[in-house]
Amino acid sequence: MKTNTDLIAKLEQTIENIPDFPKPGIQFKDITPIFLKPELYEDIITDLVDFSRGKIDAVCGIESRGYLFGIAIAVALKVPFVLIRKAGKLPPPYIGQKYELEYGSAEIEMRKGQIKPGQRILIHDDLLATGGTTEAAAKLVEKQGATVSQFSFLIGLEALQGEKRLQHFNAEVYSILNY
Ligand code: AMP
Repeated sequence: MKTNTDLIAKLEQTIENIPDFPKPGIQFKDITPIFLKPELYEDIITDLVDFSRGKIDAVCGIESRGYLFGIAIAVALKVPFVLIRKAGKLPPPYIGQKYELEYGSAEIEMRKGQIKPGQRILIHDDLLATGGTTEAAAKLVEKQGATVSQFSFLIGLEALQGEKRLQHFNAEVYSILNY
């Protein structure tokens, strides 16, 4: 495996920063160029798998970019993958968790029974911004009697202090690249 420094440098070169998208003032991090580089994708998965090996019983991925890497992590570690979706997309039975956005609120859902009480869960998404979505995902996991052991991301936006918001879960937090 390549050193993490190499991986960080390659990610920095590959991820595109799009200013003022989708709203003025937002620096949008576009991860789609990663998929043009299969070897880089492989190195990312190796790195994320190394972080979670031996520490988790299932992976929960957050719609939709959390699926792109989350499924590969789960398959490599031979543990189940559970989809966390935006409200209204999953058939019943499901459970939901509301959370606050800058304006208004949103809700995410998960099929009931797909994670089991006592399981150690990795919550994975592409990017940690304010932490609102991830925190809601973690509450959804805890509501089902499982434990959030780890959070992983490709990118962390440090200025938004999302990590602070996740502190009370007492889980490990890892972002490959921080801005
Ligand atoms: P948050 O709940 O604020 O942590 O937002 C996290 C979710 O919003 C993730 O699923 C990201 O994919 C997306 N997101 C937030 N900010 C950005 C950004 N600057 N660039 C790309 N995606 C973002």
